[in-house]
Amino acid sequence: NLRNLTLSSPLCGRRQAVRGPAFMFNARGTSLTSEEERFLDATEYGNIPVVRKMLDESSTLNVNCVDYMGQNGLQLAVGNEHLEVTELLLRRDNLARIGDALLLAISKGYVRIVEAILSHPSFFTSERLTRSPCELQDDDFYSYDEDGTRFSPDITPIILAAHCQKYEVVHMLLMKGARIERPHDYFCKCADCTEKQRKDSFSHSRSRINAYRGLASPAYLSLSSEDPVLTALELSNELAKLANIEKEFKNDYRKLSMQCKDFVVGVLDLCRDTEEVEAILNGDISAELEEGQHHRSLLSRVKLAIKYEVKKFVAHPNCQQQLLTIWYENLSGLREQAIAVKCLVVLVVALGLPLLAVGYWFAPCSKVRSCVSW
Ligand SMILES: [Zn+2]
Repeated sequence: NLRNLTLSSPLCGRRQAVRGPAFMFNARGTSLTSEEERFLDATEYGNIPVVRKMLDESSTLNVNCVDYMGQNGLQLAVGNEHLEVTELLLRRDNLARIGDALLLAISKGYVRIVEAILSHPSFFTSERLTRSPCELQDDDFYSYDEDGTRFSPDITPIILAAHCQKYEVVHMLLMKGARIERPHDYFCKCADCTEKQRKDSFSHSRSRINAYRGLASPAYLSLSSEDPVLTALELSNELAKLANIEKEFKNDYRKLSMQCKDFVVGVLDLCRDTEEVEAILNGDISAELEEGQHHRSLLSRVKLAIKYEVKKFVAHPNCQQQLLTIWYENLSGLREQAIAVKCLVVLVVALGLPLLAVGYWFAPCSKVRSCVSW
C-alpha cells in the first residue's frame, strides 16, 4: 500500500502523477472510457454544468468509476472542495464510497461538505456513524481494495473529527448520535477482544490508541461531556496508568495524559469571575448541597487534582486565589498583617482553644464561633 500512501498525499497533483513512474505500474488508468475520463475531470475541477449534463443525459455513465489513484468522482469533488458537484453526485442512489468521502471532508475541515454528505439517506441509521470501516464490511460504503481509504480502518468519522479538532463537525456528529466507544480493559478476555487480538494484535493496539486520542481531544471532551473537567481528570489518570501497562505506546499515552491535564488548566484559564472558578473547583455541587454542606468547603475537583497529581491545576493562579480567599474567609484583616502577628494569632487561638470550645458550646452563634471553625 506504499504506492497508495505516497500518491494520496495532497501535494501530489493528478496530472503530475500521470506522467510520473507510478503510471507505468498501474494498468487501471488505461481502462477508463473517454466519457468516464471527462466525467472525472469535471468532478475534479468543479465543472458543474458538465457534471449535471452528464448525470442527467448519459445512461451508460458509471458514476463510481475510479481514476488511476482509485478515487471516484465523489472523492475528487470533495477533495477539491466542490460543494455543488458533491451535492449533484449525492443525488444519485447507486453512489459508492460515501464513507470515504465523509472522512476526506472531515480531515480537510470542509464543514459545509460534511453537512451535505451527512444529510444523505444512508446516514438515516446512526450505525454508519458509530461503526468503523473495518466493522462495517457489508456494502460499498467504504472501499476495501488496496486503493481504499487512506485512513486507518478502525477510525470512525467522529474519531477523525476529534483528532482534527473540528469542533463544528464533532458537534454535528454528536447530534446524530455518534459517540467514541471507550476501549475495553487492556487485559480484557471477552470474545470480541480475544478475536481482534488473535486476528491482528498490531491493529488492535492501534485502534485502542486511536480511540483514546479521540477521547482525549479538547473538541470531544468539551462537547461530549456534561462535566468536562471531571472527565478530563479521570481520563488523564486512566491514560497515565495505561502508559505503564502498554509500554510500547508509553510516550503516546503519556502525551495524551498531559493533553487532558492541559485541557483542565485551559478551562481554568478561561474563567472570568469567582463564580466560574468556584464552579470548576467544586464540580457538580447540587448533590452535596442537598446534604446540607457548605459548598465552598467542598473543592472536590481540587482534591481529585491533588490525588491525580495535576500540579499545574492546583498551582494555577485562579485556583490559588480561590484557596487563599477560603483560608482567610472569616479573618480578612489578618491577611495584611506581618508574619509575626499571624504566628501570634495562631498561638493565641491554639492556646485558647479549650476556652473557645466551651464558649462555643454556650453561644454557638456568637463571633467566637468563627474563630473555632477557623
Ligand atoms: Zn473486551
